[in-house]
Amino acid sequence: MRIVDLILRKRNGEQLSPQEISQLLEAYTRGEVPDYQMAALLMAVYFTGMSDREVSALTECMMRSGQKVDLSSVPGVKVDKHSTGGVGDKTSLIAAPLAAAAGVIVPMVSGRALGFTGGTLDKLESIPGFRTTLSVDEVRSQLGQIGLCFIGQSVEVVPADGKLYALRDATATVDSIPLIASSIMAKKLVMGLDALVLDVKVGSGAFMKRQVDARRLAQLMVGIGRRMDVKVQALITDMSQPLGFAVGNALEVMEASQTLQNAGPADLTRLSLELAARMIHLGRMAESLEHARDIAQRKLLDGSGYHKLKQVIQAQGGNPNVLDRFELLPNASGAREVTSPRAGFVSTIDAEDIGRAAMMIGAGRDSKEDQIDPAVGLILEVKPGQRVETGSVLCRLYYTNEERLDEAAQLVEDAFRISTSPPEEYDLILEVVG
Ligand code: URA
Repeated sequence: MRIVDLILRKRNGEQLSPQEISQLLEAYTRGEVPDYQMAALLMAVYFTGMSDREVSALTECMMRSGQKVDLSSVPGVKVDKHSTGGVGDKTSLIAAPLAAAAGVIVPMVSGRALGFTGGTLDKLESIPGFRTTLSVDEVRSQLGQIGLCFIGQSVEVVPADGKLYALRDATATVDSIPLIASSIMAKKLVMGLDALVLDVKVGSGAFMKRQVDARRLAQLMVGIGRRMDVKVQALITDMSQPLGFAVGNALEVMEASQTLQNAGPADLTRLSLELAARMIHLGRMAESLEHARDIAQRKLLDGSGYHKLKQVIQAQGGNPNVLDRFELLPNASGAREVTSPRAGFVSTIDAEDIGRAAMMIGAGRDSKEDQIDPAVGLILEVKPGQRVETGSVLCRLYYTNEERLDEAAQLVEDAFRISTSPPEEYDLILEVVG
């Protein structure tokens, strides 16, 4: 196999065979293919795409690049959930405990914040003492006892993805739909799941800005699952506006706690319940989706999802009382109000602007090496449709460092569109794939 021939064929829009993809990736992971050749191949994929068969082959060989996690000794149906990333998206902290409270086994593998999107691991690590690195034995034992764990993507599990992702990051090839699909699916499916629920975000605050791209990503991931005998369902959901009121790590843990106690924002509650219901249905804990929705609702109302999250926090080294006593979480030292320059109705709140503002004051990362400040972030005081007067508070920024505060506050003000008439209702759940 001559690497240059594979690059040439991919550049010309031809397909590579599963054997060629597997040999190439294995050689790259062993360090036998130089980065400059792999970078050229990634760029060819970026421009010419990959067939479903190629994407599945790439996913399978990424999964083979490290240890496979064997959870067969844990009884029960294993279901995970993944979001492609958004602003204020803390649904994992709500849907996973609800599904686990209903009897589904949830070995949740999560990622970190990057750019203007948040990451579940950073949110959880804002809880003092919370450990997101567990050994495989610890994962098995925790799943056996409480049915839920939250862990990070470890280097041993899918090492090829770590190496490839770093190269994509340095070569402007991250936002290639087939590469995103295989990267996400390899890390999820290596856990030996029976089913997976995907939340593919679309809109200004998401990777995918157009619904047609989100649909293609969802279809590819559902197809990878089908070929590997894992049931995958994807919801395509709106991310043009932030989800809930809170953006920022500790602030989002607080909002997740309120939501699990049935006192959360309507949009966040609705989406979390739907994701939990799909997990419960695919986890074979309900005979129909309607029944699964009833169960999810019950687990919210009777507090069992909330208690499940407390159990997980305790098991992973944190103090479960953080869910009732928010002063135990990191707190910012200052607050800045952003007020409305005019009276009218809030028509939209741009998710990307809000995400960027949160990142500027330290809630997110510009690059993978940046440190996050768990205490900072912002709380929206109004949502689309609400009437505001001149000077009404639109948002509060919670900060510990004033360096980029003015810039962030300006971005927040720009994010709000105020109009003379109320906006039309917008759909949160746009499509279901699979
Ligand atoms: N998340 C991932 O895990 N991989 C990608 O390529 C993009 C987002």
